[in-house]
Amino acid sequence: MDYAREPETMQSRLLDTTLASVGCTSSEDKERVLIAYEGEWRNLLAKLRSDLKLRHAQDDASYDQKHRRMVMMHNSSIVGEKIVKAARSYVKEKLTEAVREATSQMPPEVLEDEMLLYELLERNEEVNLWTKARRHTEGPWQFILIPSSLPNAFVSEILPHRIFITTSLFETFIESQDELALVLGHEVSHLILGHHSARNSLETSMRTLEILMLSLDPTDGLLSLAFMGGLVSLRSAIGALHSRDHERSADELGIRLTAMACYDTRAASHVFYKMHMHNVESGRDVGLGGLFDSHPPSEERYLALIKESDEENPTKYEESSCANLKKIFFDALKKGDDGRS
Ligand SMILES: [Zn+2]
Repeated sequence: MDYAREPETMQSRLLDTTLASVGCTSSEDKERVLIAYEGEWRNLLAKLRSDLKLRHAQDDASYDQKHRRMVMMHNSSIVGEKIVKAARSYVKEKLTEAVREATSQMPPEVLEDEMLLYELLERNEEVNLWTKARRHTEGPWQFILIPSSLPNAFVSEILPHRIFITTSLFETFIESQDELALVLGHEVSHLILGHHSARNSLETSMRTLEILMLSLDPTDGLLSLAFMGGLVSLRSAIGALHSRDHERSADELGIRLTAMACYDTRAASHVFYKMHMHNVESGRDVGLGGLFDSHPPSEERYLALIKESDEENPTKYEESSCANLKKIFFDALKKGDDGRS
């Protein structure tokens, strides 16, 4: 099939694959997937209210389940939207900084030549990173709640502008909006820091090297076999180092976004401790998949987050992003209430 001509087919296949990766495969499960678009949290609240009125008319068991999923969806979209808004303003700030830094070192004649200026900016690594991050964050987002017994939350480069969360994440770990904000902040941070692409390109180049070695080997594979053994361990060593760094920086930016989005970062950090303890008690890494896959939550990461929360908390952003967000959501709520009355 020519996917380039059928972008919708490709998107729905990718979505199917994504759902399958967290065990959502049956048509019954797929029907229970809830999708909210950015800004829809207000409608969800209204839906929730009318749901409550309908309560008497329904049998309790199915109502409770539906109602609980709606609350999860409402929380996901409201927290998700605040994190996305915080991410956008962070990226905008970094891009402005990068452009300012790059242009400050250019001679005045370059600044007057628009074509040349863009060409040079495009070649600047920092500017490039934040331009890409901007593409990843600008535009309307979707929040997707998947019925699944695997606790997980993730964003993906191949299905952009979407935050995926499983119902089990709420049932297992998430007990407050603060905790949800930190988990989503961490996942969105991987995306804006370009970790998805970096990881893909690292893996691709290692594979290319392997294939090249095999095709060049005059000993019909014997040499390559020995070499490949070394390469595999090298690859996992680089992979581990790579991901530890990535996790650390996603934790750091994640907690910052959580603070910018007005959530209590200290209280939020507790979710990392819960996930760590869950791993310790079960004696293995839980099937967190995309969520903290390469470097599971540890006590060390939890303590680092607690320490960070002294600095990164809503007080720091009271004058800027946090206050703006509060106003946006407060105004929207007011409008919603006026509309109904
Ligand atoms: Zn991570």
